This record gives sequence, structure tokens and C-alpha cells, in this order.
Amino acid sequence: MATDARLRTLNAQPARNGPREEVYCTKVGTTRPDEMYIVGGHMDGHGWGEAANDDGSGTAIVMELARIFSSPYVETERSIRFALWNNEETGLNGARAYIQQRQALQGQEIPVGSGRYPEPKWLGMIQHDMMLFDHGMPRADGTLSPEQRPEADVNIEFQINSRMAEQSMKLAFVFHQANRNYATDYPAAVGPHMTNTDSGPFQDLIPAISLRENERGAQVGAGWDPHWHQPSDRFDTFSDNDFRLGLNAAQTTLAALSQLTGAKINR
Ligand SMILES: [Zn+2]
Repeated sequence: MATDARLRTLNAQPARNGPREEVYCTKVGTTRPDEMYIVGGHMDGHGWGEAANDDGSGTAIVMELARIFSSPYVETERSIRFALWNNEETGLNGARAYIQQRQALQGQEIPVGSGRYPEPKWLGMIQHDMMLFDHGMPRADGTLSPEQRPEADVNIEFQINSRMAEQSMKLAFVFHQANRNYATDYPAAVGPHMTNTDSGPFQDLIPAISLRENERGAQVGAGWDPHWHQPSDRFDTFSDNDFRLGLNAAQTTLAALSQLTGAKINR
């Protein structure tokens, strides 16, 4: 695949040091515009493929949720910020920069009396990072099932060794319950070892969780996703059942966020 001319062209852009851009948009709450949940995915990729799963899948969920919540028929009491982080793969630098630059602005009405809150108070951070591929553990000979395993799940992780562990665990189970009630095909599982993702820099400050196809430490770390950071992380690598797992993650976050922000449909 290293000789794939299309991939070579796609990845030919030289790396340049210097400032990086991030993208976000915000659904402004009706009664609590000064409080928000942050919903994220990272827009940089790694490994000379298309980064379709890592993290095209997570960013697609964030954009799809932004599309739904931005409908004029949807109202939320609290605000929601949809963020696409840059430079996750180089050390969570985008998420860290956001915290450095914006943490102190939380909850401030600027200008005073305007009713505008450029940085609402952070209520929680929910990251989506690799949402497609749960084919089980590698077999003894190193090969993997070509199909999504029937018992595939959405892994919701929080970090037990963080200052906000208890609040993050509670947030994780709100998502777990939302999955039970609203996801159509795949269940969710909660685990205590969130790591290597953009919700990490938030974990000592506010409730922070990540959604993934697998547990990042024990499963991705042990080779459950052979396309991770590889040229084979391409859109055409994944099947309908893989994309369906991503859809179930989107259903999970949509349902949980709707409850957390007091969403309602206005006809
Ligand atoms: Zn990633």
C-alpha cells in the first residue's frame, strides 16, 4: 500500500511547524447559555492512510451531532460545543492549547450585559476516537476475524486515577444508560482506563470520558485494531457492520447529550 499513488498524493503535504488551527461551533442554550458540554474528535491523522477510522469516524460523529442540534427545531437549555481538535497524534497538543487559552474565560459574559458567553462553564468533555472496528482479539496465529464481532460494543472510558474520577464515572454511566435505551444494534461497556485521547487533558478539571471501538489500553494496545495508524486505515477497509458500530456510538452520544442539556423539539 506504500506504493498506492492515490495515498501517496493524499499524504504528500509537508509537515510545517507553527500555529495550528482548531474548529468548533456552539449550540447556545436557551436558559443556561453560560454552561456547556464539549463534544470532541481529532481531525489530524497518522500512518499514511486516509485516517478514516482514526479519527475520521469520530469527527464524522461530532459533525453529524452538530448538524442535528443546529436544527432550528431543536432547543437545548444548556450549550454544547462541538470541537475538532488538531495535533492529537503529536501529544494531545490541540486539547492542551484549548485549555491553556480558554480555561480562564469560563462563564464570563463578554461584553457584560450582552447575554453572550464566548466560553461557557465546562460541564463535561466527551471525546470520540476510533469508532468503527471491533472484530475481537487476534487469534493465536495473529490473524483476525474479517467481520465485526456480533458482541461488538461501544467502549466508554473514564480515568480512575484522576481528580474527577467519581464525576467522570457518573457521566460514563449516563452514556451507558443512554445506549441501553436508544442505541439500535450494539451495547456499551464502561471501563476505568481512559488514556491517550483529547479528553485526557480535561480529566483533572471536569468530568471527562472517551467513546471508542475498543478499550484503548488493553485492547487497541494489544493489537485488536490492525488498521490503527496504518496505511490500511482507509474508508474502503470498513464494512457496513463497522460503520453501524459508529452509528450506535452517535446514537449513544445524541441521547445522552439530549438528556444532559435538556433538549426538546420545537415544531
Ligand atoms: Zn485517535
